Amino acid sequence: MNRVYKFLLILFLPIIFISCAKTPYTNRTQLIMVSPQDEVKMGYQAAREVLQKEPISKDRRLNYLVRKVGMRIAKAANQPNYKWEFFVIDKDIPNAFCLPGGKVFVYKGIFKIAQNEDQLATVIAHEVAHAILRHGAERMSMVQLGQIGKELLARTIGGKYGSLFDTVYGIGAQYGVILPYSRKFEYEADEVGLYLMTKAGYDPREAIKFWENMMRMSRGQKPPEFLSTHPADEHRIQRLKALIPKALKYYR
Ligand SMILES: [Zn+2]
Repeated sequence: MNRVYKFLLILFLPIIFISCAKTPYTNRTQLIMVSPQDEVKMGYQAAREVLQKEPISKDRRLNYLVRKVGMRIAKAANQPNYKWEFFVIDKDIPNAFCLPGGKVFVYKGIFKIAQNEDQLATVIAHEVAHAILRHGAERMSMVQLGQIGKELLARTIGGKYGSLFDTVYGIGAQYGVILPYSRKFEYEADEVGLYLMTKAGYDPREAIKFWENMMRMSRGQKPPEFLSTHPADEHRIQRLKALIPKALKYYR
């Protein structure tokens, strides 16, 4: 009895803390075990760490551009609990990210790929989309749930198969749940990013050009780091093209 009770407690306790959120624009149900307040706090903490570690560019033109484009995207994103700030990192790699809470970092190297304001808006809007879609918190919750699932199964299957099961489950959790999801997150951020940039007054068709530039760069000898997490391929570009008519409805 005691064991059964314990088992049930382990099974249902985490669920109490899970909140069912809905993604903006795409209206997908998410399981998130972190409150938006805690998520923003974590974002600020991470931003402080980035600012300590990374060289911040003093280039006036680049800072002006990133702030100008960024503020327009931020306005379209409409997140009253975010304190938006934009930084240019003085590194030649094409990369960018947005932390929960609205701290946006753009690496100088992105200007080799983004050839105009609309293309810069493409990157910033994509990163802002990841943040407002709460992808970080969702992924974190998935890892936590994976951990709980693993413990549960280990308990029910028991001792001697434990380590073998651990290995199998670990692989399953990695390839079966975590990896396909991140592609899904990418596409979702592409879609919402496209709406945000259009709402901000930028031309969504420039997003296609931006990813085509990316694709061209990936054929080079040393593909940029951004591409390992953001594969630029025909499939991605086709999906974006198909979304253009829907995005154009957000033009104001
Ligand atoms: Zn992304």
